[in-house]
Amino acid sequence: MSEDTRLQSLNPEEVLRSLHSSPEGLSTEEIRRRLASFGPNRIEQLGGSSIVLRFLRQFSHFFAVILWVAAGLAFFAQWHQPGQGWATLGLAIVGVILINGLFSFWQEYRAERTLAALQRLLSHRVKALRGGETREIPTVDLVPGDLIFLAGGDEIPADCRLIEAFSVRVDTATVTGESLPRSRDAEPTGETSLLLARNILLAGTSLISGQVKAVVFATGMHTEFGKIASLTQRIRVGATPLQKEIARMSRIIALFSLVLGAGFFFLGQFIGLSFWVSFMFAIGVIVANVPEGLLPTVTVALALGAQHMAARKALIRHLPSVETLGSASVICTDKTGTLTINRMQVKRLFLAGAFLEPAALARKSPPVMQKRFLEVALLCHNLRKGAQGGRPQFLGDPLELALVAMADGIMKAPDYERVHEIPFDSERRMLSTLHRTPAGLMLYSKGAPEAILPRCRQIQTEAGLRPLGPVRKARITAAQEELAEQGLRVLAFAYREVTEPYDPGHLEENLVLLGLVSLEDPPRPEVPVAVATCKAAGIRVIMVTGDHPHTALAVAREIGLLTGIPRIITGIQMERMPDSQLQLALGRSEVLFARVGAGDKMRIVKALQQEGGVVAVTGDGVNDAPALRQADVGIAMGIGGTDVAREAADIVLLDDNFASIVAAIEEGRAVNENIRKFISYIVTHLFPELIPYLAFALFNIPLSLTVIQILAIDLGTDTLPALALGAEKPAPYVMQLPPHKPHEHLFTWPLIARNYLFLGSIEAIASMAAFFFVLGNGWHYGQILAPTDPLYLQATTACLTTIVVMQGVNVFLCRSPRDSIFALGFFSNRLLFIGLAVEFALILLINYSSWGNRILQTRGLAPEVWLFALFFAGGMLILEEMRKWLLRRWRRISSSR
Ligand code: ADP
Ligand code: MG
Repeated sequence: MSEDTRLQSLNPEEVLRSLHSSPEGLSTEEIRRRLASFGPNRIEQLGGSSIVLRFLRQFSHFFAVILWVAAGLAFFAQWHQPGQGWATLGLAIVGVILINGLFSFWQEYRAERTLAALQRLLSHRVKALRGGETREIPTVDLVPGDLIFLAGGDEIPADCRLIEAFSVRVDTATVTGESLPRSRDAEPTGETSLLLARNILLAGTSLISGQVKAVVFATGMHTEFGKIASLTQRIRVGATPLQKEIARMSRIIALFSLVLGAGFFFLGQFIGLSFWVSFMFAIGVIVANVPEGLLPTVTVALALGAQHMAARKALIRHLPSVETLGSASVICTDKTGTLTINRMQVKRLFLAGAFLEPAALARKSPPVMQKRFLEVALLCHNLRKGAQGGRPQFLGDPLELALVAMADGIMKAPDYERVHEIPFDSERRMLSTLHRTPAGLMLYSKGAPEAILPRCRQIQTEAGLRPLGPVRKARITAAQEELAEQGLRVLAFAYREVTEPYDPGHLEENLVLLGLVSLEDPPRPEVPVAVATCKAAGIRVIMVTGDHPHTALAVAREIGLLTGIPRIITGIQMERMPDSQLQLALGRSEVLFARVGAGDKMRIVKALQQEGGVVAVTGDGVNDAPALRQADVGIAMGIGGTDVAREAADIVLLDDNFASIVAAIEEGRAVNENIRKFISYIVTHLFPELIPYLAFALFNIPLSLTVIQILAIDLGTDTLPALALGAEKPAPYVMQLPPHKPHEHLFTWPLIARNYLFLGSIEAIASMAAFFFVLGNGWHYGQILAPTDPLYLQATTACLTTIVVMQGVNVFLCRSPRDSIFALGFFSNRLLFIGLAVEFALILLINYSSWGNRILQTRGLAPEVWLFALFFAGGMLILEEMRKWLLRRWRRISSSR
């Protein structure tokens, strides 16, 4: 305890000594020893209890509860009326709940493990000083005593004490709940609490801005973050459209089956059945109508979608986002790095009233002016010196890299000590650094001309300083626009001499303008195609950039995003716009947002959501986090983005590429389609499962399908074919249709009509016909058969088998609600055939093994019954193909009108 307290009050040298470290960092030997004794820098999974909870949840969701009630009733019946097989039914239902729950749990667990493994691809790294050398190392390898360097946007990887700090602001909300940013510095303090001490950075919090050198003093579970044991993953609040839709569907189905069950009970009573027989029907009807296999299948489909997306460079952080992405109707995207390749090159300069190429620099400019200009390029940046592949190299913002590359060839970077920094952020749009030069303190600034020019009083010319009047300003602005119209990104450079003592709040005033630099950042080659795909898919793409309107427009035209004359809205205009007006402006088809900051982005997202859009938004900076969280799908950049943005996002792009968003949307849509496919598949068997009970109750026909047999279909034979439908590849048309409306239901009337009623009644007719086909050998109407009568057992088996055979064909019919099964590439989904093989293996086991016969009350079938079933299956195939053909024809006629 006293150790910790001392750490805050020591000066930096003493801190290093107390941790047995040195200004060169730790030696390799020492690091190995410490890693062994302190362990890796990782918060261990705290989920012990939550795993149990999640396990229990699999047995307590809506469908499970209905089944529990059914099982409970069966056991109650057993107690009341022993010896009628009630216990077997009860046990069977419990078995179903258990198998189903275990399967779902296993699927979810596997999906989570896969996601976690994918996340590790993005393992966090940090720059550390070890044995006198600076290297990027994985944050798990950090040990107490390590010296690390951090910059704005980084997550703090371990508890550490500041050694050097420039304009540091931290966000400690995750640990202290404090939402306002706090400033931090390296000075010793008397504060006893680690959470409050100004010179301490805590693991799990993040650096909003500034530059830091710090020494690690606690890692992994020893950090304050690790000690707050309840800190689990941030969970997104609010259900996704799919979750809401499934909840809604469950309610409808449950209500429907309960009403139907109760109806049957009273009907049974009314026509004079014994209480217990009516009771059994009620249970049978309920079980027949609950789609038990649905939930695990949804999980599997989402997990598969996430895997496909990862292969296409989009990493999912929350499983349900797979589906949300599939319903996205608007993408708000950054320009730099997402639409462009983010590899910049300096093109033209505007110095002393004239345009020139960078190559002409050495000769044309007079010494002082050129020197200051190059100093800005070489000093005013936040690049890190790293060693990539052995030789020293700068790492960081491509814009700053390009500026250094330009100046590097002409002049060596002076090693002036940097004493202060006013950080860049997307609201300020400029960066200033203060350096100690032989001629005194010097402030170097670079940024958007709109940010720099108003702070300048003078301009540097070949003949010395001149006042920057309106005429000169106008000439600069004209030059800027000329460059911007060519799609170039334009920066202004300025400097200022500073006398000590200085006021840090008033440094960026009275600047001397040096000139303009323009940089080229070409669009990514795959972006125009991706933009066209979005247009075809009915997805709006809106560029939201911090760059100049002209530059933004030029790039937007180049990639085919805008063709007409768009409404360009700048951050300044947005400030004066009430939300209603913004919403109206967004209603126009062509809009472009330029010179906007992260706060504006948030408003744009909200306005689009007000309009009913499902909004995907990209972001990279710390300021983008709120917009990323507000959006339906927040997309962060894996390469260029900050840790903070990644933490706030649902999806991380591994290659920062807009085209990857579009690829992920395609996968998401495929998942949505697939979920519809297997729902339609599962719904089909509900009707033939219901009819036997109706027939029994209304027409006194022996029960053709027992409750246990229903469960054998729902949770046995139909499971794998349904899963295989969940793994269908995206159909070519998924990106040619508009997105589903956000509140469009999964369970629609067309689906009910097509599957529940049309295909369902074909299956019902077939299975009842098969039942009578067998029963006809000896039964006459009105005769009561004992439940063990071999003829009865064979007849129910025929009914069951027919449903299974027809579902085997139906799985192909459900691959598309409108396309012929032969148009889709009959063999394009191999899993379907595996599912089919398992389905038939199961029904053979049920039919012909003594084990199957005993549990499911079946009997081996004669071959002609199989032929009978196949005949009906072929009939269903032909009828459905005809329906689809008529539908396609009708569509063509109605669209050609
Ligand atoms: P974008 O939407 O294109 O990513 P940003 O918000 O990153 O735009 O940047 C907005 C503006 O800030 C740029 O147009 C540029 O003028 C300026 N800017 C960008 N990066 C830097 C930097 N490292 N230093 C100074 N100014 C910058
Ligand atoms: Mg940017």
